[in-house]
Amino acid sequence: MKAIKIERPNQATVVDLPMPEPGPRDVRIRVMASGICGTDIHILRGEYLGAYPVIPGHEFSGVVEATGADVTRFAVGDRVAVEPNIACDNCVNCLNNRQNFCLNWQAVGVTLPGGMAETVVAPEKAVFSIGDLSFESGAFVEPLSCVIHGVQRAGIRLADRVAILGAGPIGILLLQVIKLQGAVHVSVVEKTPARADFATAQGANRVCYTLDALEKDSFDVVVDATGAPPVMGRTSDFARKGGAILLFGVPPAGAKLSLDAFTIFEKGLTLLSSFTSVRNSYQAIALLQSQSINVANLISHRLPLDAFEHGITLIEKGLEKVKKIIILPQQIT
Ligand SMILES: [Zn+2]
Ligand SMILES: [Zn+2]
Repeated sequence: MKAIKIERPNQATVVDLPMPEPGPRDVRIRVMASGICGTDIHILRGEYLGAYPVIPGHEFSGVVEATGADVTRFAVGDRVAVEPNIACDNCVNCLNNRQNFCLNWQAVGVTLPGGMAETVVAPEKAVFSIGDLSFESGAFVEPLSCVIHGVQRAGIRLADRVAILGAGPIGILLLQVIKLQGAVHVSVVEKTPARADFATAQGANRVCYTLDALEKDSFDVVVDATGAPPVMGRTSDFARKGGAILLFGVPPAGAKLSLDAFTIFEKGLTLLSSFTSVRNSYQAIALLQSQSINVANLISHRLPLDAFEHGITLIEKGLEKVKKIIILPQQIT
């Protein structure tokens, strides 16, 4: 089978590998759609401390091709998505329902071979049926799970007024989930016009091009979806007294954040972050199947497997028209 192998930072090549055999509790999946995420960029660029080589890809869906002897929930032909974070279910964090902080954490596409390949093997407990959901929508189960976890952490309540800073694909997913959660008003700040227009089309009540255009002291919850420390540092300006801040975007490793300490004290703000997800896959699949959340128009590019590195370059260039890029691993040019 063909796969993208990152041998060392900045070196991604298409390789031919033996077909992986599932263990007794594993499922082998023919990957049909595999989303490129910021984490893949970090892995390719060496901004990640794991071991190389890596087959990247942790946001994917496909069809079950083979099952191990002890697999009970799946049969050949089932359409599935994978929750890439694999917890041991036997450490102090797992046993306290904090599986996202598992002490023996593994992740498909990060520490284990991932979905930028024609086929991938995953443990049955990480595999979820997607029914007749499209494969491309199935590739959003993982990022949507992370967004659901973040929105739950933020405790968005009925009739809340929320500000989201940044309208990339994750900002748009946050917008949709926050509105679904009952917010009556969501302001989005986004400097690139195409993304700002898209946020309006996706239900933002108001879009500002600059942070200075946003009302200070007015939002129940302010969400950063940029991961840019200068933007994150402004979140406390916009939260109301007693409000909350959710730092959702992934900042560069080692970056320092400057927040106004007195403002946080004086406003009594709650400062939250969100790391991956905790058992949110069924929720994500239900939201996608019911079309409560729509992801089809979040996809800007569909590329063959061997265009993985090209896809990453497109995202890095930050071009306005680039939204989510989906790799189709069964296609190779
Ligand atoms: Zn991701
Ligand atoms: Zn654990």
